[in-house]
Amino acid sequence: MERLWTSGSHGKNKELVERLQLYGIIKSKKVAEVMEAIDRGVFVPPGSAPYVDSPMPIGYNATISAPHMHAACLELLEEHLQPGMKALDVGSGTGYLTACFAMMVGPQGRAVGVEHIPELVDFSINNIKNSAASTLLKEGSLSVHVADGRLGWPDLAPYDAIHVGAAAPEIPQPLIDQLKPGGRLVIPVGTIFQDLQVVDKKMDGSVSIRSETPVRYVPLTSKAAQLHN
Ligand code: SAH
Repeated sequence: MERLWTSGSHGKNKELVERLQLYGIIKSKKVAEVMEAIDRGVFVPPGSAPYVDSPMPIGYNATISAPHMHAACLELLEEHLQPGMKALDVGSGTGYLTACFAMMVGPQGRAVGVEHIPELVDFSINNIKNSAASTLLKEGSLSVHVADGRLGWPDLAPYDAIHVGAAAPEIPQPLIDQLKPGGRLVIPVGTIFQDLQVVDKKMDGSVSIRSETPVRYVPLTSKAAQLHN
């Protein structure tokens, strides 16, 4: 018989989260809860397949990252997304991960997205309004801004967690500067070959960098270069 109770979009989102748990990509209960609450179906353009584990085009030569990449980044940042903490999402695109960050840090925390395509910022704000993070947006613990993310978002620095959703040829210094001692930056680095790098700022201000895994992201670049491609 048809499993009627999984036929809605929320059911499909839950199944996606369960698969990511099964494959060991989601380990944390909190990450699973947040990805379950933030329905990916609300964040993809109409006509794309939100619950398939693949990136999807969102226009402007950008993509929403694959669910396993969102999950992996949330896992890497979990300790730095505790209630009350501050998080920056550079290249926030659809707003999916920014909304997850806001749910992780909660109403006493602060999550900010920075995206250089104004239309995508409008799209993301609309998506967030239709998601479980809408109250956080309304009450001001979540915001998305049009800006060049290579400069970070100095207004709210320093951050406990910084995520970059586009690949930088090298790690932008402003992002390291805007990291709190004890904070973590997760950023894809490279051009043709890219690695997801994890940058930890120690309490004495020194920085350690390790490569987590090979990845493939759209470039962190100028708006002109992105739209020209
Ligand atoms: N995490 C997002 C990823 C979107 S793709 C999601 O899953 O929806 C990467 C995004 O980075 C694109 O939206 C692109 O427009 C943006 N981007 C690229 N270079 C940028 C820059 N210099 N400043 C801000 N955003 C940038």
